[in-house]
Amino acid sequence: MNAVPDVPQIALMGLDASEVSALVSRVGEPAYRAQQILDAVYRQRLDSIGEITTLPQPLRASLNQKRVVVGMPAIERKFVSLDGTVRYLIGFPDGQSVETVWMPEGDGGEAGDGSEAGDATEEAAKNWDRATICVSSQVGCAVDCQFCLTAQLGVKRNLTAGEIVGQVCAVLKDQKVSPPQDRINLVFMGMGEPFLNYDNFMKAVLLLVQEVGIAESRMTVSTAGIVPRIHDFGLEQIRPKLAISLNASNDAQREKLMPLNRKWDLEKLLAAARDFPLRNRERITFEYVLLHGVNDSVGDAENVVELLRGLKAKVNLIALNPGPGIEFSTPGEGQVHAFQQVLMRAGIPAFVRRPRGRDIYAACGQLKRTVEIATAPVR
Ligand code: SF4
Repeated sequence: MNAVPDVPQIALMGLDASEVSALVSRVGEPAYRAQQILDAVYRQRLDSIGEITTLPQPLRASLNQKRVVVGMPAIERKFVSLDGTVRYLIGFPDGQSVETVWMPEGDGGEAGDGSEAGDATEEAAKNWDRATICVSSQVGCAVDCQFCLTAQLGVKRNLTAGEIVGQVCAVLKDQKVSPPQDRINLVFMGMGEPFLNYDNFMKAVLLLVQEVGIAESRMTVSTAGIVPRIHDFGLEQIRPKLAISLNASNDAQREKLMPLNRKWDLEKLLAAARDFPLRNRERITFEYVLLHGVNDSVGDAENVVELLRGLKAKVNLIALNPGPGIEFSTPGEGQVHAFQQVLMRAGIPAFVRRPRGRDIYAACGQLKRTVEIATAPVR
């Protein structure tokens, strides 16, 4: 039997302009080939080297022979919600997978963005004028927030920059849309804690801005509160907007809900937020998952007002999205409204995020690679 030598593949997805240029020069090709390859991978989002017809056939053959591949991840499953949200299960060559969520007319974390408003009908979903992609940064998550289904997976591994960008490219291709002509927002709020995979996450951000063509102002990253990385992130020249998962109004409460609060408590977290260099008209978003009878009282809201005093902040309120194995329950609408009113009266913009794709386990905190759901998979 002829054994095939086990030469590792080189994926183009995830390489930046200088790395592609180096590859092109290694195979003895002129420098302009690098831009053709970058366009094919990130703008045309082709699946294979053979499809890159801007390259001459001998070069394509040579790249194939060197085991160079595009590296577009595979869409393994796809679940479509009644509200137009699509949850993708995206797989990588080592058998691991993550979830990526497409939300037409979604909430990109922008103020007054309609997240406080009503229903996306199927009609509206078809005629979206903007969409948000919720991107994962790790397989699973190590942070262990008690209200989150992803936490139940633990962390399996970090995603590479190519796997982070690849999720976006796979979804753009499947939805047949192209930024910047189509208005696409990105939120790094899927599976994982981006600031625990910081270098790969930041490299992916640069590729998304420079090669895919999505402006950094259209991106928001959410952290559970990895304080040293909030400082680093503030120093970046090109960066998304910052969101911090707050979820509690005092340390005792937060420690129970988010064990990482023992390491970086509210004082440290809010000091980092106060030091964070904001741009013109930028605010830090604080996310707050409301859990019935746990952190949703008017007194909690008043404490949050005190915590955020002096900060340029806005708050996104998310009534818990329930899931199997989660011991908390969802507060009633009246409670959510009362909490919101306390913040608004104190001058803090507060939006109630409507749940997206709850029926297909695509809503916040529900990403767990669930495949056993009522809705039939599309494929
Ligand atoms: S809420 Fe975010 S940070 Fe917390 S466990 Fe879930 S995925 Fe991780």
